[in-house]
Amino acid sequence: MHNAKTSYPDLTLSGVLQNIFGFNAFRADQEEIVQAILARQDCFVVMPTGGGKSLCYQLPAHMMDGTCVVISPLISLMKDQVDAAIATGLQAAFLNSSLTASMKRKVETQLADGELDLIYVSPERFAMPAFISSLKRVRLSFVAIDEAHCISEWGHDFRPDYLNLSTIVKAFPDVPVTAFTATATHRVQEDIVVKLGLRSPHMVRASFNRPNLFYKVAPKQNVSAQILRFVGTHAGDPGIIYRTTRKSVEQTAAMLGKHGIRALPYHAGLDDATRVRNQDAFNRDEVDVIVATVAFGMGIDKSNVRYVLHGDLPKNMESYYQETGRSGRDGEPAYCQLLFGYGDIPKIRFFIDQITDMTEKKHAIKCLNDMVHYATVHACRRKQLLNYFGEEWPTLKDEGGNLKPEEPGVQPRSAAAPSLPAAPCCDICSGEVESIEATRDAQICMSAIGRTDERFGINHIIAVVIGDDTDRIKQLGHDRIKTFGIGKDKNRNHWRLIMDNLLAKGLIGQSDGDYPTLTLLPAGREVLFEGRKVHVMKPRKTTKRKRGKRDEKTGSDESYDKSLFEQLRELRKAIAAHQGVPPYVVFSDRTLHEMARTYPGTEDALLGISGIGETKLERYGDRFLEAIRTYRAANPDKKPPT
Ligand code: ADP
Repeated sequence: MHNAKTSYPDLTLSGVLQNIFGFNAFRADQEEIVQAILARQDCFVVMPTGGGKSLCYQLPAHMMDGTCVVISPLISLMKDQVDAAIATGLQAAFLNSSLTASMKRKVETQLADGELDLIYVSPERFAMPAFISSLKRVRLSFVAIDEAHCISEWGHDFRPDYLNLSTIVKAFPDVPVTAFTATATHRVQEDIVVKLGLRSPHMVRASFNRPNLFYKVAPKQNVSAQILRFVGTHAGDPGIIYRTTRKSVEQTAAMLGKHGIRALPYHAGLDDATRVRNQDAFNRDEVDVIVATVAFGMGIDKSNVRYVLHGDLPKNMESYYQETGRSGRDGEPAYCQLLFGYGDIPKIRFFIDQITDMTEKKHAIKCLNDMVHYATVHACRRKQLLNYFGEEWPTLKDEGGNLKPEEPGVQPRSAAAPSLPAAPCCDICSGEVESIEATRDAQICMSAIGRTDERFGINHIIAVVIGDDTDRIKQLGHDRIKTFGIGKDKNRNHWRLIMDNLLAKGLIGQSDGDYPTLTLLPAGREVLFEGRKVHVMKPRKTTKRKRGKRDEKTGSDESYDKSLFEQLRELRKAIAAHQGVPPYVVFSDRTLHEMARTYPGTEDALLGISGIGETKLERYGDRFLEAIRTYRAANPDKKPPT
């Protein structure tokens, strides 16, 4: 057996990082993990999506003798993962059922000859004794298990195939085993370590903070119009829109299509071929928007998703975090918006009511309450999300809306959680949402609820308050109550917002069922009769504070030349299509943004850009330099933005 891997004996760790991967520095925790792997330790790593897990095993795989076996759950993803590794300059291949016999033989020969840094395989291979024996004849550097939470029944993506992996440690006692996951719960974490039988693993639990994501919650009013407006302000950006039901996914995708927006649906009701086709079109930037149910998730390696919009309330904080986490993997700014209205709650309650196991039911109710709390409380969204995972985070504002200095008592869990964020990270911290006193409006709503005997739902109460001239209101005699029309100087959205706030604060209640009715709760009576004050959260008309170099409306980064970026994006897309790979495999958005910020004119300048190593320079450098040169010649007066 000889080792034919390309080796760079003179390069240090940072030299490999720079020359091969094109990165100037390790991200938080990466270096520590790489060092542990190089020291042949078992490792267990929890790191959020976009944290940079692949580099943690690809870099040592490149430096160590032998081949690293990467276990990856989705065959559909493996080709993209291998293409990305090859584009970076690594020797990589995959073995799965999609290969023809001759392709398979070729990979097996490469593996046997020690040519590969990385071999990607699926978990079911470990149930095949012939595969295990073939691996035993090969020199392995270590095993890297991606999406390791799939081995745990407690995780949200349990896959029985992953249970095959519990034999690895016994089958390859001399080979270090490393496990990577983005799933945060401690229960899943312990389960993975036990099931895999890791030997005193080096444990890394990175911060779950995603500093480049901006979080916002907007009142849900006319959801279709809101989605259309949102997508319009992010025109051309790749984004994911989550909806709860298959029907709303189809309707939203069709609605966007009708308005000339390239959007495709994705849900479990579509046949496999359509799902793969739609996901592929999104992956390859052929459509901008994918409208999906939660079925769209694992296997989204696309790094340039610029926004995630939730049209409906997600079922828990963990799902919300994972779903929003699919944006901005490349580290560039991305925008996460949730449309929240109390109308979603009875729909979720309906599903919870079907649960027969009482413990499970209680858990589901708690999850729902946590989610509603997140959407309705006037506190930094990032802080709330991180608190949910047991992490503390310094915020720009306290709950009363005052700017806070760094809190002495707050200790970030890891080096990745830095001190006070440089720019506001959510609608609360940026001042887009304000807390205003609305005691009188609250009293008007509650009075209307009381005077109509607590027998009607939100829409009817709003109709009474606004003074709608309808037959139904007249028949019921509601045009004669004292509050009729008293709120006509404000629009329906305002009153819905007030009602949502009253529900969120537990001042009024809402029954379950198809026609939920509103009732006054004891705390609400204190507002009506005992002078208790009410504050509500309301979007501010104009944004007070700028978000650094981000655009006020879209949260997008304004610090690069947009038209040059668009041209480079087209070039990237053409090269990727020619090579049959997704565009982000050629260069990430971050790399293109940096080009559109600094106008590099030489190979050396290109090498200084994040994400360009020697292989990418050689492969794509000339064409990008040429495109930048042509752009500059056509726009001689344009100056680099920085
Ligand atoms: P994960 O698997 O944890 O979701 P990835 O491995 O896909 O994350 O990495 C996310 C993005 O971050 C990729 O575009 C990758 O190239 C980039 N990245 C990783 N490490 C670094 C680094 N040290 N510096 C700059 N970018 C990095």
